[in-house]
Amino acid sequence: MAARETTIALRDSIARGERTATDACNAALATIDALDASGPALHAFQLVLADRARAKAAALDHAFAKDATLAGPLHGVPIALKDNIVVSGTIATAGSKMLEHFVSPYDATVVERLEAAGAVIIGKTTCDEFAMGSSTENSAYGPSKNPVDPSRIPGGSSGGSAVAVAAGMTTVALGSDTGGSIRQPAAMCGITGLKPTYGRVSRYGLIAYGSSLDQIGPFAGNARDAALVLEVIAGHDPHDSTSARRPVPSFAAAFTGSVADMRIGVPSRLLEQGVDPEVLSAFRDAIASLTTQGATIVDIELPHSRHAISAYYLIATAEASANLARFDGVRFGARVSGGSLTEMYDATRGRGFGAEVKRRIMLGTYVLSAGYYDAYYLKAQQVRTLIQRDFTAAFATVDTVLMPTSPVPAFRFGERVDDPLQMYLADVFTVSANLAGIPAISVPCGTTTTGLPIGMQFLGRAWDEATILCAADAWERIAARA
Ligand code: GLN
Repeated sequence: MAARETTIALRDSIARGERTATDACNAALATIDALDASGPALHAFQLVLADRARAKAAALDHAFAKDATLAGPLHGVPIALKDNIVVSGTIATAGSKMLEHFVSPYDATVVERLEAAGAVIIGKTTCDEFAMGSSTENSAYGPSKNPVDPSRIPGGSSGGSAVAVAAGMTTVALGSDTGGSIRQPAAMCGITGLKPTYGRVSRYGLIAYGSSLDQIGPFAGNARDAALVLEVIAGHDPHDSTSARRPVPSFAAAFTGSVADMRIGVPSRLLEQGVDPEVLSAFRDAIASLTTQGATIVDIELPHSRHAISAYYLIATAEASANLARFDGVRFGARVSGGSLTEMYDATRGRGFGAEVKRRIMLGTYVLSAGYYDAYYLKAQQVRTLIQRDFTAAFATVDTVLMPTSPVPAFRFGERVDDPLQMYLADVFTVSANLAGIPAISVPCGTTTTGLPIGMQFLGRAWDEATILCAADAWERIAARA
């Protein structure tokens, strides 16, 4: 793939007056037109907000013509949002029939912040229903396709956002990551994806899946662009009590371009089973290059990580069952009439939710039920604490932990969708960061012999996105020289 333009270069060219926000907006819309609906029909977008985007771009150009100093950090940059992030006056389906006609009455906080920084929201991207999935095959409106090989999934659940960036429709996009939904599609599409520390970015206006795990974060072509977007969207928000009152540093200011002083922990025992040989060999090559560049590789133990998938699928489904209870056709959800109130609930939830969402509501309700709460939900919470402690112990000796993002490259449509366990296992390396609440960034680290992208992720201490972004940026330079 040709080197794509960076967000920073795009923004700078508009701020220098070499092109307008309208030019950038029209170029993005033309690319979406060529690749999404026709051509390879990648279906990155659930909804293209062409008129809204053109109006916003024109307003930016107008303001800029009067006072060029008004150009914000994302001035004129088109951006795509996963369709579970709400924009006032537009439909947000979260990939579900349940929200087919739901028009949001308000903007998510990230939307306000992006627009205040000059970004132009170009559309809403395809995702697995309520962000539950690893392939976008659970979208009620059809999946996105991987631009590298359209017979394969792009990863999920934020697959459409990954496709938008990987195919060059936009330079950046937002997704949400509950158990890997930013990092895994980034890895499978060959781009960069960052899950921030839990509490770093406001969840106000993110349609909730697992509220103690969900975070919004950026997809980008490189670490510097991801850092810029994170700076714009991060910070305390009175609308979200779990968003932290922590200062947001300039992440890029901490970039050194080098891994020479870095201590990188690798949990080698975790890699002994179930990892595709090509993923493993790309990962080992990356470790060798990092060592050559002066990084110190430390073998670490994350003893409880082998229970991460089990704990995650109990906690996430429990929280999902509570969050999705509101969609009953009374205040929320597309109502289907029935003879009685119960029949109306049944008809609404029966039609509105897809098979995977129903499976998770049932699992989550079961693990929260009086007789099984202690055995499943409580136990999972205890395992979660042990996983957190494993990371705290590791970070006493290393600056970052490195592991593959996905154990396998992008699989073919239909390969796993009928086998939920196989689908869940694709999240084996990503869910731990969500359970521990720590930040993690996926970066490309080579391809398979057939050209499918492979990704690896740097995990960091809570609130220390700066270190993993710096590592990701340094790694890009190493990879570019190889
Ligand atoms: N694939 C995981 C799941 O289905 C993660 C989803 C996510 O991060 N939103 O739950």
